[in-house]
Amino acid sequence: MWHEGLRSVEKSQTLLLNEQQRQQENTGQEVFKFGFGQSPFPPLEAATAALRTHAAAKEYTPVQGLPELRERVAQFHRTVDGLDDASADQVLVGPGSKILIYAVMAAFEKASVLIAAPAWVSYAPQARLLGHETLRVNTRFEQRWRVTPEAIDEAMHGKADRRTPTLMILNHPGNPEGQGYTDAELQALAEACRRHRILVVSDEIYGLLNHTGTHVSLARHYPEGSIVTSGLSKWCGAGGWRLGTALLPQALQGNFKETLLGIASETYSCAATPVQRAAIEAYQWNADTQDYLAHQRRLLARIGTWLADELSAAGVQVHRPTGAFYLYPDFSAKAEGLQRAGIHSSQQLCARLLADTGVALLPGDAFGLPPEHFAARLAYVEFDGREALKASREIGLQRPLDEAAFAAIFDKTIRGARRLTQWLAAL
Ligand code: PLP
Repeated sequence: MWHEGLRSVEKSQTLLLNEQQRQQENTGQEVFKFGFGQSPFPPLEAATAALRTHAAAKEYTPVQGLPELRERVAQFHRTVDGLDDASADQVLVGPGSKILIYAVMAAFEKASVLIAAPAWVSYAPQARLLGHETLRVNTRFEQRWRVTPEAIDEAMHGKADRRTPTLMILNHPGNPEGQGYTDAELQALAEACRRHRILVVSDEIYGLLNHTGTHVSLARHYPEGSIVTSGLSKWCGAGGWRLGTALLPQALQGNFKETLLGIASETYSCAATPVQRAAIEAYQWNADTQDYLAHQRRLLARIGTWLADELSAAGVQVHRPTGAFYLYPDFSAKAEGLQRAGIHSSQQLCARLLADTGVALLPGDAFGLPPEHFAARLAYVEFDGREALKASREIGLQRPLDEAAFAAIFDKTIRGARRLTQWLAAL
């Protein structure tokens, strides 16, 4: 009974990968976990202390989030993103940005949702769950896997129903490719979105992990049509705390905001109260926060660049990352060797690589590329973030991370990368 009429929602690829990894570890083999993309860093200390202090806070908060927190988040957007008009009224706080993105999509009875290929794994299943039409916006390695105005035009051309509203999810710096957009690129995208009347969910959850601290929000160029989502999961190393934020455009404060609040109140009610209290501490642009981010950025930039260069030298197409903690290596140049080895899809590539070397990557088809495209995501978070932060702080920001420190902090990543390049060389 109750096995009929179910929706088709597959278990996320990352969970399957975890299972495979566990099996491999049980056989005693060392596993290099480059598949799962979780921040390796501990949360900001002030936030952890506040969470402890407020552990007993048990009341529901307003659905939109605590007013003090919304004010802090708005202030953060004003200071860090230069969004001078951002106000607490426009901020929504929820249990993770994932559910906020879902709530935005759920606000429409019927919508067309533009999603880049490749893009983060959950956007398309969310849109499909809601019965929306999904339109893939194709991107290419040569364009750093970035969405272009031409690609938007092309995707809009295939739109079935001109009357349904159009949403686009834009993610930068991006998962899975670790690339941001330049100011000029964002300006051009804003014009295209304006022309097509597209409401954009600008997923900027990795914005503060732009490796040079130069993230530009889409809302700078498209304030009237950008919903900027973020939260504590990435820059504050607190994915499991489940705290996300959405900044709505001023113009969407009426019916649209009420609809979102209605969805929130009928589903999750509010983000956990102690976590909201902790977030009030996290969302302060003070010396501690800036120091914490500066060390994370330099560590991520260093290992991300090193890995990209190693892979490039091994004949893999990959860009140096500009943000977040991902690379999206494209192994197409190795297609002949892979096929000779009986490998014909990104799934097979990752399964064989894991079995042969212990290196776990996430297959590229999970992100919306065709299964036969030999791409995969590499998350460079296989190091002890607490120790790395400590070592980086001891060295200080004035001095670069020397070779000895680099080798000590990233030992496992370096060994995993070598296994991968040796495996490729032997194809
Ligand atoms: N957006 C992207 C691109 C992500 O990679 C993730 C988490 O992996 C999320 C959103 C979800 O973040 P949250 O923990 O705020 O729900």
